[in-house]
Amino acid sequence: MQVLVEAPQHSGLTGPLDYLADQALPPGTLVRVPLGRRTVTGLVWDAPTADADAWAADQLKPVAEVLPDLPPLPPTWRQLVRFASAYYQRSLGEIAMMVLPPELRQLDAVQWGRRFKRLTKSLAQPPAATDAPEVLPDLTPEQQTVLDALAPSLAPGDAEPAPTTYLLWGSTGSGKTEVYLRQADRALQAGRQVLLMVPEINLTPQLEARVAARFAGRNIVSLHSGLTPAQRLRNWMLAHLGLADIVLGTRLAVFTPLPRLGLVVVDEEHDPSYKQQDGARYSARDLAVYRGQLEKVPVLLGSATPSLETWFNALPQAEGGAGRYQRLTMPSRVGQGAMPRVRRLDLSREPKPRPGQEAPPLAQALLDAIAERVARGEQSLVLLNRRGYAPVLQCSDCGWKSECPQCSAWRVFHKVDRTLRCHHCGLTDRVPRACPNCGNLDIHPLGRGTEKLEEQLAAALPDARVGRIDADVTKLKGALEDRLASVHAGEVDILVGTQMVAKGHDFRRITLVAAVNPDAALFASDFRAAERQFALLLQAAGRAGRDASVAQGSEMWVQTWHPDHPLYAALARYDYEFFAQQQLKERQMAGLPPYAHLAMLRAEGKTQEAAQGFLVEAAQLVEALAAELGGILLYPPVPTAVQRVANIERAQMLIEAESRPALQRLLARATDDWLALAHQHRPRGLVRWAVDVDPLAI
Ligand code: ADP
Ligand code: ZN
Ligand code: ZN
Repeated sequence: MQVLVEAPQHSGLTGPLDYLADQALPPGTLVRVPLGRRTVTGLVWDAPTADADAWAADQLKPVAEVLPDLPPLPPTWRQLVRFASAYYQRSLGEIAMMVLPPELRQLDAVQWGRRFKRLTKSLAQPPAATDAPEVLPDLTPEQQTVLDALAPSLAPGDAEPAPTTYLLWGSTGSGKTEVYLRQADRALQAGRQVLLMVPEINLTPQLEARVAARFAGRNIVSLHSGLTPAQRLRNWMLAHLGLADIVLGTRLAVFTPLPRLGLVVVDEEHDPSYKQQDGARYSARDLAVYRGQLEKVPVLLGSATPSLETWFNALPQAEGGAGRYQRLTMPSRVGQGAMPRVRRLDLSREPKPRPGQEAPPLAQALLDAIAERVARGEQSLVLLNRRGYAPVLQCSDCGWKSECPQCSAWRVFHKVDRTLRCHHCGLTDRVPRACPNCGNLDIHPLGRGTEKLEEQLAAALPDARVGRIDADVTKLKGALEDRLASVHAGEVDILVGTQMVAKGHDFRRITLVAAVNPDAALFASDFRAAERQFALLLQAAGRAGRDASVAQGSEMWVQTWHPDHPLYAALARYDYEFFAQQQLKERQMAGLPPYAHLAMLRAEGKTQEAAQGFLVEAAQLVEALAAELGGILLYPPVPTAVQRVANIERAQMLIEAESRPALQRLLARATDDWLALAHQHRPRGLVRWAVDVDPLAI
């Protein structure tokens, strides 16, 4: 019998192992099997292979025990794992075990039996009945049109084609969430389960509250990495046993077994958080689409600024797109709330501060506009995507800078606890009293982060209450919720934050949003930087004017040296379509996604030569194959943008293919050779390597 065990790609154990069992166990059964000197959890994968029969029975070890009372994982789940394993070039065992709740992998049969008894007791309680159900808002005409278009997807007649993937392209505040809830209701009424995905844990509580209010009496569970192992196991079991009606989760939730699945929603489908950034680098959005096709269940991708891949897929063929998804559009905001007016503030026209005078923290006109809001009791959101006090400390005498000794990066000055912290490796030290190089006492911060901006704004506008939300002040459990609550309660006039606050939050009293320093993305080497920046700025703008009573006169300010840049021009008109069209043209000319398909081979080594040496030989190994397949380009290996992290050197090699199947064939055939090659290169200083299929950043 074939059993999958947890085996990282690099162990070389890529397939299932053969074991003996007294009785035939159906595929998908969880078992405990001996592996070396340990007993580990495994998953029955397939019937015995022909090879196994040929083996002398005494060569095979028997399955130790079966986890009782656990229904086997269904064939569709196994197919999803099989697909993810093949597509992202990771071992089956790694994917299968990675996506199961951690506790399930650790308990033996006796422990599991006990746990299951306790679980069934707690599962037996149905959610408490609640008071009056929520009053549903009347749908806007746009919502109604979209829901009419979605209606056949859940009840396809015999003649109808199978349900498809939909892109719900709607402005922020157009009522997309309401559409998700109505469509979810239809699925629930039909006796089906709903998988609702959000990009970040931070956004789950808000949506969870909304879902719970709407579907009182239904079993709603969440699945994300912020849960305790016990909660995760419980919620996963509810889903797997078909007892949970709605599963709300982050990217890992895409692998939840759901026997009655009827609808998948991927909110903010363009969000980079859907792509796992280490280990098995899967895209939960793409897997959701695959899963929908596999299980014949409609998938609803929602965004105001779809990823260009999704946009291209939803663009009709007549307009040069792939015409693969059905596009549904909601351009208007609910109620009378219009999107804020965009004001581009030209920094090149700002007066230079006189000698000895400090420049204001923001352009004077912007500062005045914020002060006006404060006086009127309205809120402002000021965005700066850099946390800490200052990105670097410098000695005014010898030019010493606070470089991280372990990384090719500066260490950031955090004033609260007077530390220098590396945002790449985490190395933290107290700020030196004098320059470590020359002893000069005058070392000063260069540039600024959110911490300094908060301090400056508080000084410039002494009547205003200034608050801050970034990764530094929200580390403790509950801290983010507390800070958000105080913004909602109106205890903050000016909120300084990183992109963390630009997403999703339904702030009602914000009438001004300012992007302080958004220019960097215009000239980044990463071809997706512009797309991401446009999405972020538009999403940030969507935080303003959400309440119709204050929407009039709400504004989005952009401080820039390049006010005429096409990205800002498109933003000022809220013209995503135009922006996307321009970007697609550029991508087509440059041979980039969605017109080409990429994989990145990454290597880390004790030296840059070790990392690149592996990549050079890895390329040589597949050159002939690439030529044979055709339409494949192997780029020369280069150091990554941050070349050294924690004393490990990083390099990468881009593989570009005209066709996805060709790329997949190349990777499938190369992976074993690369594994063997990596083995040879270890003594030469190779530390790690990995393939990243459809990489987000290059
Ligand atoms: P989106 O997800 O597109 O940003 P939401 O669904 O969050 O938009 O809707 C924005 C706001 O409008 C929410 O406060 C929501 O409760 C409200 N809303 C949505 N649909 C309606 C409707 N048909 N009538 C009245 N209010 C609505
Ligand atoms: Zn010095
Ligand atoms: Zn470092």
